[in-house]
Amino acid sequence: MSTLTHLDSKSTIELFDDYVIPNYTRYPVSLVRGEGSRVWDADGREYLDLFPGWGCNILGYSPPAVVQAIQEQAAKLIHVPNTWYTEQQGRFAEFLCTRSFGKAFFCNSGAEANEAAIKLARLHGSSEGRFRMITFEKGFHGRTFGALTATAQPKYHDGLGPLMAGFRYAAMNDLEGVAELIDDETCGIMIEPIQGEGGVRIPEDGFLQGLRNLCDEHGLLLIFDEVQTGMGRTGEWFAWQAAEVKPDVLTMAKGLAGGVACGAMIVRDEFAGDLRPGMHASTFGGNSLAMAAGLATGETIEREGLLDAVTDNAAYIHERLQAVQQELPIIKELRICGMMIGIDLTIPSGPAVGKAMEKGVLLNATSDTVVRLLPALNISREELDQGLDVVVSVLQDMAEDS
Ligand SMILES: *Cc1c(COP(=O)(O)O)cnc(C)c1O
Repeated sequence: MSTLTHLDSKSTIELFDDYVIPNYTRYPVSLVRGEGSRVWDADGREYLDLFPGWGCNILGYSPPAVVQAIQEQAAKLIHVPNTWYTEQQGRFAEFLCTRSFGKAFFCNSGAEANEAAIKLARLHGSSEGRFRMITFEKGFHGRTFGALTATAQPKYHDGLGPLMAGFRYAAMNDLEGVAELIDDETCGIMIEPIQGEGGVRIPEDGFLQGLRNLCDEHGLLLIFDEVQTGMGRTGEWFAWQAAEVKPDVLTMAKGLAGGVACGAMIVRDEFAGDLRPGMHASTFGGNSLAMAAGLATGETIEREGLLDAVTDNAAYIHERLQAVQQELPIIKELRICGMMIGIDLTIPSGPAVGKAMEKGVLLNATSDTVVRLLPALNISREELDQGLDVVVSVLQDMAEDS
């Protein structure tokens, strides 16, 4: 192929109108190319993306080391079923476990990682008749039936019942409430150490430790859903390390393989055997391509010192936005942990998305009033400044309109 040709956005949208199920709300733009935190649409417009790939593009678009690893791996082996051993899976498991704990199971998405965790917790509790799981309001765990039931948000359940049996919902930061929901049939507690879709909600000090204590007291597995917070997003490899509360099970996906579909569950050694042979599997899980991409992603984060960069940039963002907050009373609260930024407003946050896009910046609105940014870990200070300038001007516009 000598020149790269592509359809304009309008033609691509026509294909979708004719052939793609309209279950997503999409911006009327087709994206064709990206590089770091920049992305271009089919009509040549450039955007600075503060929310690249919904958090999956943790090193931005097409990071060179990941592209190279994928190209080299694709030429050797793309997929090998789990009836064989592959070096890539062993090495990526080693990478993740030596930076957290235990042993890994690989799958292809966040929902699947959480399904594996729910099954593991039930298998662990099965000899004592334990099967119930406690999860949290405003949480998000995925769209398959187990993960969906774990997601305590009625809007995602509408019309899909009956859901899976055995789930109970608690309010975050209410330890007594959680304790009241535990009974002889409870097998585990599952929580995001920072709620992502729920609006970058960081639990109060002591809450996660309180859950740890309850789990220890009652023999429950503590499951942290780090699908969004994992892989360096918070400035530590995993959010449990920042919170200093070690779970029994850790689930991850999104940024895990730099934008290639990949999910994983990490389980403490003493519980790893609960997922006994034959009880769970994933055909594509741990495929060589995703494993090579994941390893290249992790090694890049380490080689480029990105965990420290994240912490520095987060402090800088906090300082800049705090100064703005003084002048803009529509900013109710800033919630920042590494490259996970929630700006909670006193007004609906939805209009921020379109206004920022008009100015060439991509961001996200979630949980009614929250502007959410999940910048790439390797975003430059210059890009960050440029992006924050636009965020601030959008918030100023919104304050004037309100
Ligand atoms: C995105 C997300 C999921 C679901 O991941 P999928 O890959 O879409 O299945 C689960 N948990 C959390 C915390 C997420 O942010």
